[in-house]
Amino acid sequence: MSASPDIVIIGSGIGGATMAAGLAPSGAEIVILEAGERLPDRPENRDQQAIFQRGFFRPKESWYEASGAPFNPGNYYNVGGNSKFYGAVLVRFRREDFGEIEHLGGVSPAWPFGYEELEPWYSRAEALFQVRGELGDDPTEPKHSQPYPFPPVPDEAPIAHMRAKLRAVGMHPASLPLGIDIERWLNKAKTPWDAHPNADDGKMDAETAPLREALRHRNVTLVTGATVRRFVAGPNGRDVAAVEYEHQGERKTLSPKLVILSAGAVRSAALLLASNLANRSDQVGRNFMNHNASAVIGVSPWFRNDAVYQKTFGFNDFYLHGGERDLPLGNVQLLGRVSGKILKASMPAVPEPLLDVASRHAIDFYAMSEDLPVPESRVRLDGDRIVLEWQRTNWSAHEQLVARLKSVLRAAGFPLVMSRPFDKRTPSHQCGTIRMGTDPSTSPLDPNCRAWDHPNLYVVDAGFLPSSAAVNPALTIAAQALRVADYITRTELRTDALSAAPRVNA
Ligand SMILES: Cc1cc2nc3c(=O)[nH]c(=O)nc-3n(C[C@H](O)[C@H](O)[C@H](O)COP(=O)(O)OP(=O)(O)OC[C@H]3O[C@@H](n4cnc5c(N)ncnc54)[C@H](O)[C@@H]3O)c2cc1C
Repeated sequence: MSASPDIVIIGSGIGGATMAAGLAPSGAEIVILEAGERLPDRPENRDQQAIFQRGFFRPKESWYEASGAPFNPGNYYNVGGNSKFYGAVLVRFRREDFGEIEHLGGVSPAWPFGYEELEPWYSRAEALFQVRGELGDDPTEPKHSQPYPFPPVPDEAPIAHMRAKLRAVGMHPASLPLGIDIERWLNKAKTPWDAHPNADDGKMDAETAPLREALRHRNVTLVTGATVRRFVAGPNGRDVAAVEYEHQGERKTLSPKLVILSAGAVRSAALLLASNLANRSDQVGRNFMNHNASAVIGVSPWFRNDAVYQKTFGFNDFYLHGGERDLPLGNVQLLGRVSGKILKASMPAVPEPLLDVASRHAIDFYAMSEDLPVPESRVRLDGDRIVLEWQRTNWSAHEQLVARLKSVLRAAGFPLVMSRPFDKRTPSHQCGTIRMGTDPSTSPLDPNCRAWDHPNLYVVDAGFLPSSAAVNPALTIAAQALRVADYITRTELRTDALSAAPRVNA
């Protein structure tokens, strides 16, 4: 590894690993600096007591509320980033999400380009993550130029029954596009995969899909345990001249031609703020969004749920319409199957055997509504501390979504329906803090994720999203990463600038 590689990528999550996969064939010397280590294969990976009750995997860090109160965020630092724990729902934003949309709580802004621009990259991302899915059942599904590479993950019997019940009450349940090889996953242990870490057990996450592909190329090096602390601008103030990081107790520096920042929406914003870079617009750290999301659980003594993984369908009947003034409400998808051990974490006073019995008669959904970008919702620094001042928007749309879902579940035969919102300790869908746009005075990044202020700096992680839509973000981050990698390869990495032709490991 040279001190001046062609490209340094910071972070090996969805954005960083997919950038590496997209750039690797160029032959450029690429160094990935990742703060975490590889997640080991150990019994706790499938132990729900360890995961949900003891917080075995939760990072030992605090972020702070505006009031100064600390909280422990569920933000994960390991090779593959948050995707090691993700639900592997790899869904496209809807075509409408790329335009301006009126919501009950305000306006979701248009993207700098339309769905058609990203469509081919969605197909490539689906191939890279080996997505299982099926087209045809979801009326909001945008046009795909390629079918899904694999057939959908099958419903277990009670879930097939639930799908039929929802159809009978007029909903349009559709298979969720998933990055999971279900046979391999269940071979290790009979658990769901959402929120359970993946040690190469069949979940297609940032490490097991794009990073693995990138590391087949000898020109790509991964350095783990390498925490980037700061960027240093060159004398002209335009170029990022150096990346300073800590590795094995030492402070080190790399001086690449290009820097790709992919540390996640909160950490990337914090790094830019700490380095005083890319912020002519004063938008770095602002427009923080994190979806308004609730768990909605229907219980019926007549419904017997012996499903293991459950998370195979969702419905978008209220995605574009259905609220007051027929405005959009959001997406509904199955949660990974809850158990007594999982419920116990949020209901410590209730005996676990009772929760187990309840969970055997329950069906669990995840209701998700769009959070809108507002400048007051922000990440800022107080010395070394990360302060997260999340100002939820569009909450009334979320309340209406939860109410509509409750009526649907009651009509489908669940007399008892409960809901609980996810709070800020779960910043799983964090995004928007370094948004792209067409105007340098209102966005830190251009439509190719290049910093308007620094031609050799790109930010490719959930931070670039101009809007959060109301579906899971990972596939959209990956699709844009492949698009940006292609742009960089065509415009910045002409072969005469590189040390050698593409080098691929056998
Ligand atoms: C429990 C859970 C379930 C989820 N389920 C889904 C789902 O089903 N579908 C979906 O689309 N999304 C899901 N998500 C969200 C998804 O995981 C994120 O949107 C996605 O991982 C974001 O990608 P990213 O590149 O922005 O950041 P990340 O994937 O988080 O990657 C950031 C990386 O940067 C590293 N890093 C941070 N700071 C530094 C530093 N200073 N120096 C070096 N490295 C650094 C981190 O260790 C990490 O590896 C889920 C998230 C969670 C937590």
